Amino acid sequence: MRKKIVAGNWKMNMNLQDGIALAKELNETLTQDKPNCGVVICTPFIHLASIAQFLNQDVIGLGAENCADKEKGAYTGEVSAEMVKSTGAQYVILGHSERRGYYNETPEILKEKVLLALKNDLKVIFCIGESLEEREANKQNEVVKAELEGSVFNLSAEDFGKIIIAYEPIWAIGTGKTATSDQAEEIHAYIRSIIADKYGKQVADDTTILYGGSCKASNAPELFAKPDIDGGLIGGASLKAADFKGIIDAWK
Ligand code: PEP
Repeated sequence: MRKKIVAGNWKMNMNLQDGIALAKELNETLTQDKPNCGVVICTPFIHLASIAQFLNQDVIGLGAENCADKEKGAYTGEVSAEMVKSTGAQYVILGHSERRGYYNETPEILKEKVLLALKNDLKVIFCIGESLEEREANKQNEVVKAELEGSVFNLSAEDFGKIIIAYEPIWAIGTGKTATSDQAEEIHAYIRSIIADKYGKQVADDTTILYGGSCKASNAPELFAKPDIDGGLIGGASLKAADFKGIIDAWK
């Protein structure tokens, strides 16, 4: 059975003190009122080691938002997958559209990052999704297929099992526009079908596919009720404990 997950992506928000305070609040709330799904918070690099010290990782997993495409060495300012792992984190988001768009991360670069993350025993939340222009040209299926083929379909079935897919239509990220639950289900089912074509039905059935893009407590229940939507990757609504908990509780 595939895992249901709600993951937060804090992006470049919150200084160290504010981030620790939010993680503590979530830790207390979710330790008292256990979630019905896996919960992960993905934070800026600087928060990881401090948060890992107190986080109840049986209840909340911890992840980074990125890692380097090189193993180690003279890459000033970069943070390697091994370094992420050494903080106590278990996850890393790769392929977010903001990294693809603003930092020119190509499928080849992402392929390297995925391999290094897996080599260092990190679970990868791999983001895919089309732009508004591509959606309007009805190219969403070919876009997500190419993104999977470009960076993760080279993996063995065993390694692919360590990948969580996050479908995030770029036009829905931070815009307040959510894909309708039917739109999201349609493409999630398509993503699962191409995973089945590549790795077989069992692997496809076991793959967690998250939806991301203006997901909040008010629309999460309808999205999560769809058979191929296994949870969410949450940006803005992961920055306040009550908002994030509202989405987590959609699984109750
Ligand atoms: C994201 O960037 O991963 C995201 C889903 O953002 P938001 O929830 O703010 O749309």
